[in-house]
Amino acid sequence: MNLCDFAPEYIRSIQPYQPGKPISELAREMGVDEAHVIKLASNENPLGTSPLALDAMITALHDVALYPDGSGYELKTALSKRYDVASEQIILGNGSNDILDLAARVFLKPGAAAVYSQHAFAVYPLVVQMIGAIGISVPARDFGHDLHAMLDAITPETRIVFIASPNNPTGTLSSENELFQFMERVSHDVLVVMDEAYYEYLPEANKPDSIEWLGKFPNLLITRTFSKIYGLAGVRIGFGLTHPDVANLMNRVRQPFNVSSIALVGALAGLQDGEFVQKSYALNRAGMLQLSDGFRKLGIEYIPSYGNFISFQVPGDANNTLKVYQSLLRQGIIVRPLGIYEMPHHLRVTVGLESENKRFLESLENALGEIA
Ligand SMILES: *Cc1c(COP(=O)(O)O)cnc(C)c1O
Repeated sequence: MNLCDFAPEYIRSIQPYQPGKPISELAREMGVDEAHVIKLASNENPLGTSPLALDAMITALHDVALYPDGSGYELKTALSKRYDVASEQIILGNGSNDILDLAARVFLKPGAAAVYSQHAFAVYPLVVQMIGAIGISVPARDFGHDLHAMLDAITPETRIVFIASPNNPTGTLSSENELFQFMERVSHDVLVVMDEAYYEYLPEANKPDSIEWLGKFPNLLITRTFSKIYGLAGVRIGFGLTHPDVANLMNRVRQPFNVSSIALVGALAGLQDGEFVQKSYALNRAGMLQLSDGFRKLGIEYIPSYGNFISFQVPGDANNTLKVYQSLLRQGIIVRPLGIYEMPHHLRVTVGLESENKRFLESLENALGEIA
């Protein structure tokens, strides 16, 4: 036996997560300047980072010889004020993916189960499988979560339900009403992880009052991130809001310094930068219209999205979809193929700057011409 054969079967069978192709990689492969490449593959903020956050992080670089504040005191205090929750209800993560991982490690074990939707964020099955627990994938309805079916799919072994709203990569939203009813019906023995990575991109009318529900449901964990609208994906910081007892368990499992000092100050400053958030929101709304108009003009079907990205269907077979993906790459545009999400006919594009969306649509038209 080889050493690696001793790794548990559930580890050896994990399919590696496929991130969006980095700009530098495509530029290298194509022998072009990086400036020519547009990455619309990872739902990053096309405006970059909040300038307040950037300044704070540059200043903080001088102190990187020191360990970060492992308790995240200042950021938690600011979050606690912003969201009107106790600091004891907050857990900080190295990206919100870290929070998803901590939830799995606290509540799952081999033989336990977690429920999530078909076409839901790929990190859910990943963190479940890492524990050797069972993932129960519930068929989607119109690409969105079927919350009734998800409730019915819960078994006595189920300890976690993951709900993404808006979901990535479909951009679908579960209504406040549906979510609340789900919370009322689900057993308090099951942790409901409400992943709200795109919450700040929602119009006010569509934002659920989920944080207010924390007082009512001790089994609710809300996750948010600084990766998306705050433009801090590279420094990795997100947070969870939950019952203090749940936060306490998660805090025991996390690495003592799971969030870097740079991420802590970046998030703290970003949180105060309402102007940047507003600007990013407005740009996304305009870009979403631009892209959906463009798709309609090209006769392309797309899934209406509440995030900062949109998934669209390439006509013909799945091979055509890959051809369009490749053609876009050759034209210097990186989008995301969705085969691993059981959506082999779709590609996901992140809403970019107006000029980027325009170049994307022109390149898509070229690509469609090539396969016709
Ligand atoms: C991008 C995204 C996240 C955020 O991941 P981070 O680890 O915070 O960068 C979480 N959930 C969903 C559904 C996402 O699309």
